[in-house]
Amino acid sequence: AELELSKNGWLLDIEKLTLGENIGEGEFGAVYEGVYMGQRVAVKTIKCDVTAQAFLQETTVMTKLQHKNLVRLLGVILHKGLHIVTELMTKGNLVNFLRTRGRSVVNSVQLLRFSLDVCEGMDYLESKKLVHRDLAARNVLISDDNVAKVSDFGLTKVDSKVSDKAKLPVKWTAPEALKKEKFSTKSDVWSYGILLWEIFSYGRQPYPKMSLQEVKDKVEQGYRMEAPEDCPPSVYSLMRVCWEQEPRKRPGFHKLREKLDREMEKLSPG
Ligand code: ADP
Repeated sequence: AELELSKNGWLLDIEKLTLGENIGEGEFGAVYEGVYMGQRVAVKTIKCDVTAQAFLQETTVMTKLQHKNLVRLLGVILHKGLHIVTELMTKGNLVNFLRTRGRSVVNSVQLLRFSLDVCEGMDYLESKKLVHRDLAARNVLISDDNVAKVSDFGLTKVDSKVSDKAKLPVKWTAPEALKKEKFSTKSDVWSYGILLWEIFSYGRQPYPKMSLQEVKDKVEQGYRMEAPEDCPPSVYSLMRVCWEQEPRKRPGFHKLREKLDREMEKLSPG
């Protein structure tokens, strides 16, 4: 993996990196703001060598994925473990963005814009036959110019939250993925439905007040969340098709995108 990355110019030089403030905590280490050759970047550090090797493999996948709604990988640095360098998303993750601003600042056109942004990123991943496995508002980041981009794609196979059954993000994971580990684009679509619910509830925790075991049991029996307050019925019906028990009854991201495009047209014509 190291050789492939270096051949293709993805190995960056630690000397050219200036690390700044700590801007987040990842599962394997801290995330810092920084500057690389004049560009503002985010740097995710992975200290454990075994994990670093696994991540290095996965970043070779990421180098091949480029889309306006995916957080762009700029390269990696091999120095005391692994540093993953990506574009800096100055407005942080979508959950915090919505929670801190709320209804008085963010209107429904913007909510729909974020929903479409994520959908376009996922449509692209689907076209590349890539399954995300950990799609959630906490893994969507907001750029300086308010574009939502999917993060952590391609890395989820080494992410223990996803590879270790006991740590699965239960509230976001489709029933067939929870029970039989059947992950697919259609299980990503289920997660996307939960993400829509998070967006239109301004960053609330899904299934409020329910325990993980309760969520597993009830969802299996057909229970689904109600529409968030003031959510347009057409958007809620999109959530509901994403949450079809039967994966093949759920739409793909391309179909969802067409539906959201039509919603956007209604809400903000032209
Ligand atoms: P993990 O997936 O290991 O939990 P994340 O990638 O979610 O770690 O990073 C943790 C936090 O760091 C995010 O919620 C976000 O606030 C911040 N962060 C991560 N990547 C970036 C980035 N490219 N730009 C800005 N902030 C980021």
